Amino acid sequence: MPLRRGKNTVACVPFILAMSWQLAVEDPGASVILISASPLVKVARNINKISERLEEFDVEEETHAYLEKRHPHCKVINASATEINNEKHEIHLSNKQIVRYERLCICSGAVPKVIAESSPFVLGIRDTETVEVFQKKLSDAKRVMIVGNGGIATELVYEIENCQIIWAIKDKSVGATFFDAGAAKFFLPCLNEGKQDGPTVSKRLKYELEGDSHPESVMGSALGPDWSMHVNLKGKTVERRNIHIEYECEVKAVYEREELLKMKKETLSEQTEDSWPVYTELTNGKIHGCDFIISATGVVPNTALLQKNKFDFADDGGVKVNDQMKTNLEYIFAAGDACTASWSLSKHWFQMRLWTQARQMGAYAAKCMVCDMRGETAILDVCFDLFTHVTKFFGYKVVLLGLYNGQKLGTDYEIIVRSSERTEYVKVVMQDGRMQGAVLVGETDLEETFENLIHNGLDLSMYGEDILNPDIDIEDYFD
Ligand SMILES: Cc1cc2nc3c(=O)[nH]c(=O)nc-3n(C[C@H](O)[C@H](O)[C@H](O)COP(=O)(O)OP(=O)(O)OC[C@H]3O[C@@H](n4cnc5c(N)ncnc54)[C@H](O)[C@@H]3O)c2cc1C
Repeated sequence: MPLRRGKNTVACVPFILAMSWQLAVEDPGASVILISASPLVKVARNINKISERLEEFDVEEETHAYLEKRHPHCKVINASATEINNEKHEIHLSNKQIVRYERLCICSGAVPKVIAESSPFVLGIRDTETVEVFQKKLSDAKRVMIVGNGGIATELVYEIENCQIIWAIKDKSVGATFFDAGAAKFFLPCLNEGKQDGPTVSKRLKYELEGDSHPESVMGSALGPDWSMHVNLKGKTVERRNIHIEYECEVKAVYEREELLKMKKETLSEQTEDSWPVYTELTNGKIHGCDFIISATGVVPNTALLQKNKFDFADDGGVKVNDQMKTNLEYIFAAGDACTASWSLSKHWFQMRLWTQARQMGAYAAKCMVCDMRGETAILDVCFDLFTHVTKFFGYKVVLLGLYNGQKLGTDYEIIVRSSERTEYVKVVMQDGRMQGAVLVGETDLEETFENLIHNGLDLSMYGEDILNPDIDIEDYFD
């Protein structure tokens, strides 16, 4: 059933509430259609603006009615988009509807890169439903293996209790996506202690998902910040914490018990317990058995829908967008995890598939779409000047600014660190006396000053290491 075309019908595939919301705000008369395979939409709440570019917020789930009630010109269709006809400006849906659009924005997210995908013992965590499966499996488990060293893996290792954890990471230190070895050392005692008692009521899971929640096999929305805080992650052992880390290795193979027993006779020399349902062989030669494996090895843009059209894709698999969030196909925009920022990026910004950036891109893409309909060019939002991300790891506030891990700088930079056990860890990345990036762990109160210092590129060489001297009130100098 073709939908009636409104004044400026804009169809979005599918989720990024920020974008539909912003579209409705930018052009209240425009008819906005959100096509979402997911039965829920995500809402950013308790937004706390820390500085010009830094915002903290909670992500919560709402029903489609929430959006439709607040913006009467917004309509949500719970279906999966199966095909785009960019010549006819049409999207075909799983429920046989055909939606016509004037402007279209693709926000189809990303899908986890899962090792040994076909194994029933390997689980990737992506959305509310996979968390439910995970919770169920964990409640019956005595030992799990976690593979990966990004935010999800790090959070899981911290949050899981009453279950042995074997953590396989390819780096020399934990949490390497976000931290250097120094910060990892700061956090290690927290890892062994685990999370302190906190709220256990689920905000994110407050809506019971019904059986027919997702049309076909399209995944739900990725989880946002703090997802694990509100979920019970307890296994079956009496011992509360028991973590073993295997550094600098990857998973070479996954064996089910029968396979391992057969191989053991033939090739494997190592002594291996054989009471587990699944085993991993690591590249360092070790074999570990466990109840199941959690693969948290990153994501790839979900562009399955776009493969039949002639879109330009970047090397990382995302659909390329320019500084107007436009793809190479006329009237089609993209935002969030599905796209790859392919304009000439500012020195201190880079793309990372995070909730923060999905929200920023969604809101900016909405502006771009409205400008495009008016024949105008949008001015690139300041959030793309400088990478900023605020999150929590191990119960500590963590602020990442600019080239916080020396990204793009090669080896030509120096690091200044100030650390006080259990209180704070502050690291700045300097090049030619100018601040390029920073990691702030704890309540440092330095984020706004450092954001400005990185953005302004002031020559700070006269301060040397005193830039982090706690006796010098750096804010007074530069604010
Ligand atoms: C476990 C986990 C923890 C995370 N933790 C954090 C964190 O702490 N902080 C942070 O900043 N980021 C975090 N992230 C990343 C963050 O969730 C994503 O970057 C963000 O959700 C991306 O938003 P998006 O709108 O682009 O995609 P998504 O949120 O993935 O939404 C994509 C939507 O598209 C729908 N869809 C896909 N294909 C179709 C189709 N053909 N038709 C219709 N609908 C379709 C899906 O159902 C889904 O609703 C986490 C991710 C995961 C998986």
